[in-house]
Amino acid sequence: MGTVVLSVDAELGWGFHDFAEPPRDRLANARRGWQTLLDLCEEYRVPATWAVVGHLFLDECDGRHGDHPAPPGWFDHERGSDRMARSLRFADGLIERTATADVDHEIGLHTFSHVEMGASGTTARLADAELSAAVDAAREWGVDPRPRSFVFPRNDVGNLQALADHGITCYRGTTPTDRRRFDRYGGVDRLVRAALGSAGPPLVEPRRDSLGLVDVPASLFLFSVEGILRSAAEPFVGDPVAVLARRGIDRAAASDGLFHMWLHPNNLAGPQDAARLAEIFEHLARVRARTDLEVRTMGDVAATVRDETEAASTAVVADGAEST
Ligand SMILES: [Zn+2]
Ligand SMILES: [Zn+2]
Repeated sequence: MGTVVLSVDAELGWGFHDFAEPPRDRLANARRGWQTLLDLCEEYRVPATWAVVGHLFLDECDGRHGDHPAPPGWFDHERGSDRMARSLRFADGLIERTATADVDHEIGLHTFSHVEMGASGTTARLADAELSAAVDAAREWGVDPRPRSFVFPRNDVGNLQALADHGITCYRGTTPTDRRRFDRYGGVDRLVRAALGSAGPPLVEPRRDSLGLVDVPASLFLFSVEGILRSAAEPFVGDPVAVLARRGIDRAAASDGLFHMWLHPNNLAGPQDAARLAEIFEHLARVRARTDLEVRTMGDVAATVRDETEAASTAVVADGAEST
């Protein structure tokens, strides 16, 4: 049985709060993009893993977070005359709409304040505080059972111990072929070449690590070919990312593999972006109708991996017991 996973980095303004010049267009689209994505998931019955920045669960804050060991200035954008708008710092209803949608979405985490977990300045203490505050905010909001899935800001994997310590069971790891292909072809150009040829994004294999966490690696970022490259490829193949996503879906269905797509809601900037998602979801619906392909959340995929590895280790123990 093939599997498709869709994960969503839900961050509103927090994805850019450490930028000197946050991209205005993406911020302006953040809330509308979230709702558009929810609507599309509903229309095509696609359950997703929403990795939410923990601060968004709050109703209010003092804008200081005095007990948080973040570097000085980290929360400055919450105060002063040119502070980031409230609508970008708090979800104000969006998480509720996600959690109560007809489709059974999973609510996961994306740290508390978008700290890069793998950065050299991110100490174990800071990582622990980010996980602790995010889990507390989610549970206080009403996420029950506790959040299981995690997405690393900027896909910067690190401080895994903090995840394990706070009850997270799985995370989205980096795309396995990224480095090799980037080195060989250079940048997103490779994706256009892939779309024009017959290559496709990788299927991935979830693996459980020594901490017991399951890595559910990414296959394809759904907004990896934009601007001039997207326009250049469109007359030849149509939307190049939609081509790649369709191939990934087809391969997962044909091989019983796992295809993992991801995006930010603020990537849905204009009608052409929603059209891309609709094209991919439509294809997904067609393949689901004629095969046993399933769309599952990261948490569900990880639960299966844990069950399988536990069953396998029990079998090994039983074998060992028989042979002695
Ligand atoms: Zn705050
Ligand atoms: Zn992010």
